[in-house]
Amino acid sequence: MIQDDPKSSPHLVIIGGGFAGLWAARELARTPIRITLLDRGNHHLFQPLLYQVATAGLSAPDIAAPLRHILRRQSNVTVLMAEADAIDTANQSILLREVAALDYDFLLIATGATHAYFGHDDWAAHAPGLKTLDDALSIRRRILSAFEHAEVETDPAKRRALLTFAIVGGGPTGVELAATLAEIARHTLRNEFRRIDPRDARVLLIEAGPRILAAVPDVLSQKARKQLEKLGVEVRAGSPATRIDADGVCIGD
Ligand SMILES: Cc1cc2nc3c(=O)[nH]c(=O)nc-3n(C[C@H](O)[C@H](O)[C@H](O)COP(=O)(O)OP(=O)(O)OC[C@H]3O[C@@H](n4cnc5c(N)ncnc54)[C@H](O)[C@@H]3O)c2cc1C
Repeated sequence: MIQDDPKSSPHLVIIGGGFAGLWAARELARTPIRITLLDRGNHHLFQPLLYQVATAGLSAPDIAAPLRHILRRQSNVTVLMAEADAIDTANQSILLREVAALDYDFLLIATGATHAYFGHDDWAAHAPGLKTLDDALSIRRRILSAFEHAEVETDPAKRRALLTFAIVGGGPTGVELAATLAEIARHTLRNEFRRIDPRDARVLLIEAGPRILAAVPDVLSQKARKQLEKLGVEVRAGSPATRIDADGVCIGD
């Protein structure tokens, strides 16, 4: 157990070094408290640019910086890389994976959110989400491998399958990913293969709701759709994914 000295200043533990946890710690720089910022990773991640890592436009260090480095000048913060497993509120203690428990006087939970498979968790094996660097690197590997495998595939049907990319979810991340993927296929990889034409790649954006980017006004959503289509993306709105497995994705109307 990591014990607190009862005479010392109050101890705030922040779980999560994302935007919320990191900014909370920074805002408290001039307060007379001790802060422990706990994260299961060693870095702060700029999630809005994950799609760029997933599509090979940026590399991992471009969007992730070590929390220790960011907070090196803030003397009231200790950074700890550990995963919080459970919280014992009665004893004001956090149980950590592989590290001794940590006492707190105040606790801030800023562990973020994760994507949902709407009750189909088995889809995760075939359709990774995009929340972490590992997710982005895995998607990048899959995309680039698909082009490589298509280059050596002689069966036209299999080649077509390899060059068909389906993105489920027409929110901002899905739209950005689809547009970038289409740009890569049409422009970036244009002259890099001999047996396939990357411009033959199909990029499908599948959205259950009646339109993509549901959070923005209809006029902007329509504009985005037109721009995607100009890039060669096939937008399927009003089409929920009903099955995802190793062979592909089924969509309903
Ligand atoms: C692909 C993508 C694109 C986005 N684009 C935009 C955009 O363009 N504009 C915009 O405003 N927002 C965007 N967002 C949303 C924005 O990134 C999030 O709202 C923001 O990151 C939430 O911050 P947070 O601190 O609450 O959580 P997070 O940033 O998710 O941070 C949570 C932290 O908690 C840590 N953690 C979780 N569980 C534990 C545990 N048990 N123990 C220890 N540590 C733990 C995690 O490792 C992580 O570092 C995007 C999100 C994604 C995924």
